[in-house]
Formats: sequence, structure tokens, C-alpha cells
Amino acid sequence: MQYPQRLEKLFSLLQKLPGVGRRSSQRYAFDMLLHWPERTLQELAAALNDIKKVLLCADCGCLADESHCLFCQDPMRRRDALCVVGSPREVYTLESTREFGGLYHVLPTLLSPLDGRGEEKLNLPKLIARIQKEQVTELILALDSSLEGDATCLFIKEKLQHLPVKISRLAFGIPVGSALEFVDGGTLARALSARGSF
Ligand SMILES: [Zn+2]
Repeated sequence: MQYPQRLEKLFSLLQKLPGVGRRSSQRYAFDMLLHWPERTLQELAAALNDIKKVLLCADCGCLADESHCLFCQDPMRRRDALCVVGSPREVYTLESTREFGGLYHVLPTLLSPLDGRGEEKLNLPKLIARIQKEQVTELILALDSSLEGDATCLFIKEKLQHLPVKISRLAFGIPVGSALEFVDGGTLARALSARGSF
């Protein structure tokens, strides 16, 4: 079926979004976008245009509107505790728990030598300089429970062992609300070895 060129262009762009196929793209276009007021469409276009203006904080690597992020600018946050994450997005996942009041440090990547992501890609000198400058006493490694996450945690622990900083990693355990019989063996084994008193 032949649609006007402008609509075909919109369909193909919408299909770049995850989970959006041709039928969904047509539904978004016909049921939503074509009915939106021109002003709202202009706001959407402007927001898309500005998305590349989102910056990375010069200190921690979190997303920012200016040279420094809102976390680093917040005088109420602890500066002696750093939470190390693997991507800016994970910061918001952790923030949603409201359990951490320190600052973040976003690694450029996780270690994966087979994919060409060796230790130099971690830029640990930047983390070490921050720990020393801010007199950080606690470092929490909030990295994936994966081969890359495990390797990165071990590497950081080894490289920072000369510093007077307490290093911990997020606990592994059974998911909240799950029945033991449905927990996979690997998770259960880790939960057993990392068991704690209650
Ligand atoms: Zn920052």
C-alpha cells in the first residue's frame, strides 16, 4: 500500500524505537501524532533536537544540563561515599530506592578484554583522583552480576587496595517476593555464600 512520502518517512523513523514495528508505527502516526496540536508537535521536535545537548558531568559522568550534574551540585549529599555504576541510566534506578545519599561515579564501560574493552577503558586514574580529592571513605560497586561486572569489580578492588577506602559490592540474593523453589541455582548459590545475619 502506498502512503504519502511524509508519512512513510514518519513510519520508518518510529520503527527505529524498540518494540515498534510497521503496524505500531502506523498506529502512533494515525491515532496520535496526526491529531496532536501543532504546538505539541513543535515541542516534540524541539525536545528531539535538544537531546544531543545533554552533557555528561565532568566529575562523575552522570547526565547533566551543565558542566556538573545535579547530584554533584547538591550540598546535602555525602561526598565521602561513592557509588560506582556502569552507565548513567543506572544512577536513576539506584536513586529510585532512596537508599543512597552519596555521589556517583559512572564508569565509561565494564571490562571485557575479548571485546576490546581492556583496563585502560575504565579510566581508573580519574576514579582514584576523585577518591583522593574528596577524601572518599566508602566505595560501593553497583555493577552488573555478569562476567564483565564480576571482572570489573575484582579489578577495581585490586587496583584500589592501597587506598584507605572501604569497598563493598551490592549483595546478591533471592529476589524480593520470590519463592525459593523458583530461584535459579546460580542465584541461590550466591545468596548462600553471601548470607547475612538478620
Ligand atoms: Zn556529577
